[in-house]
Amino acid sequence: MATILVTGGAGFLGSHLCDRLIERGDEVICLDNFFTGRKQNIAHLLQHPRFELVRHDIVHPIFLEVDQVYNLACPASPEAYQENPIKTIKTSTVGMVNMLGLAKRCHARILHASTSEVYGDPQVHPQTEDYWGHVNPLGPRSCYDEGKRVAESLCMNYHIAHKLDVRIIRIFNTYGPRMDPRDGRVISNFIMQALRGEPLTIYGDGKQTRSFCFCHDLIDGMIRLMDQNETVGPINIGNPVENTMIELAEKVLKETGSKSKLINLPLPKDDPKQRCPDITRAKTVLGWSPKVPLEEGLKHTVAYYREQLKSNPKA
Ligand code: NAD
Ligand code: UDP
Repeated sequence: MATILVTGGAGFLGSHLCDRLIERGDEVICLDNFFTGRKQNIAHLLQHPRFELVRHDIVHPIFLEVDQVYNLACPASPEAYQENPIKTIKTSTVGMVNMLGLAKRCHARILHASTSEVYGDPQVHPQTEDYWGHVNPLGPRSCYDEGKRVAESLCMNYHIAHKLDVRIIRIFNTYGPRMDPRDGRVISNFIMQALRGEPLTIYGDGKQTRSFCFCHDLIDGMIRLMDQNETVGPINIGNPVENTMIELAEKVLKETGSKSKLINLPLPKDDPKQRCPDITRAKTVLGWSPKVPLEEGLKHTVAYYREQLKSNPKA
């Protein structure tokens, strides 16, 4: 049994990770400032004897004794991370330094949740880990993209300078139950709009692509990366099946049985045109590939949002 710190543990992915670590017998310290996280995501764990919740912001130092750190703290939805861009940068830089310092003091292994956004609006397709990316350093997404790039650089430099045991995962678009219904990401928007009979908001012409990974597959890849000794990464984890936003909207309409129309809204600035992971490294090093097809993952996600709406029609 290890003591494991999960920052951002009350968020969408963090809460699924806490579940998996508790299931396998670890002691879990879930740390969150509740900027985008929700208590309901971890409510079922609060009475568990091996689970502890700490309300804290990683931008401020904290002293805990742990064996491993999963650093997931950072808003992930473009709407959320652009709401307070300076805070987003601080979380990925000052917060990252604090978490690396904590790991160094405890001689703990630390996994950092990076993102496909480090590739920006990519000119290499699909994206391999050795691609350096195409990021606008001054645009509205830069607080997130550049923050995550600095965070990767910090991890690598702590690894080189202090022999810190780091792991870097580059997460591609991931979805599933517990995504905040109002966080503005495409899957939560489309499903909530379909269930309410409102038009599905397609940004731009809807021909831009994303590759959607179900949360349980993602967490499986994340834990495999943490627990292997071969590489620090980075390793792409995502589902390489690519969809346009129009295709996604059609799948959501089919799964929900909704008659909602599609409407076009302006494309946000610097919105990447295409995104798809090359997962050769994940397959060969981790023996990982995603198992859940989009249609099946959408079924679980739609069921979750139906329940949310039943208990809170204003969700
Ligand atoms: P989320 O917004 O649901 O979760 C992020 C959590 O971090 C929230 O609970 C939030 O309250 C917490 N948080 C934010 N800033 C904090 C701070 N300064 N101190 C403490 N807690 C803080 O997002 P998610 O989808 O669960 O993403 C988790 C991680 O994975 C993020 O680092 C994100 O960048 C990364 N990621 C996610 C995706 C995806 O598609 N879900 C894709 C790429 C990368
Ligand atoms: N998008 C959309 N309608 C929405 C929300 C998002 O068409 O209501 C598009 C968005 O422009 C982007 C894609 O869906 O091209 C994925 O957006 P999301 O915010 O989920 O994540 P991103 O990959 O852009 O960080």
